[in-house]
Amino acid sequence: MEQFQPELETCPICGSAGNCHIHDYYGRSIIDFLSGRKQKENLCIMRVFCDSCEHAHAILPDIIVPYSSYSLFFILFILGEYFAGLHTIEQLCERFDVSEKQFHKWLTLWKSHKKQWLGILNDSETDNNSFYRHLVLLDSYSSFSMDFIRLTAYSFLQSHRNPVLTSPKNARYRQTVFAPDIFLF
Ligand SMILES: [Zn+2]
Repeated sequence: MEQFQPELETCPICGSAGNCHIHDYYGRSIIDFLSGRKQKENLCIMRVFCDSCEHAHAILPDIIVPYSSYSLFFILFILGEYFAGLHTIEQLCERFDVSEKQFHKWLTLWKSHKKQWLGILNDSETDNNSFYRHLVLLDSYSSFSMDFIRLTAYSFLQSHRNPVLTSPKNARYRQTVFAPDIFLF
C-alpha cells in the first residue's frame, strides 16, 4: 500500500484518470484462523474519492472477500481440509467454530465459482481437491484474483452482489485489482 498512488489511478466507475485522492480510512474487523484457532483482527481500510464522478472506493487487500466477515485464508483453509477428505463437515465446523449452514454456503459458492472459472466441461473433469491444489500452489494468487474479477465482475468466493449504481448515467460498478508495477522481491 505504500506504493499506492491514487492520483495515478484510473477511476473504476467513470474511467477518468488523475481524479482520485485519499478520502478517509475506516476500521473493520476480519475473522482469521491463526495458530490453530479462530481470531478476530482489526484492519484499517483506505478509501479514495473520485472528484469526477464523486464516488468513494475502498481499497481492499487480497485477504478480504468483499462483504465477508471471514478472511479468504479462513474460507480456503476449511474448504481445503474438507476436500482432503480427512474430516467430516461436523468435525470441521467444530474445529473452526462455524455453523454447518455457513460451511455449506461456502461450499456452494466454491462449486459455482469453480464452474464459472473452468467452464462446464473442464469443471466436470476437475475435482475439488485438484482445483484447490492448483489455486494454493499458484505463484501469484493476485493474478488469478484479477482474472476472475475480469471474467465475472466480482471476487472469487464473494457471496453478495455488487450494488447497482444510478449515477453518473454511464456508471457501472467495477472491481479492479491494484497491481503495483514495482516488485519488492
Ligand atoms: Zn470516477
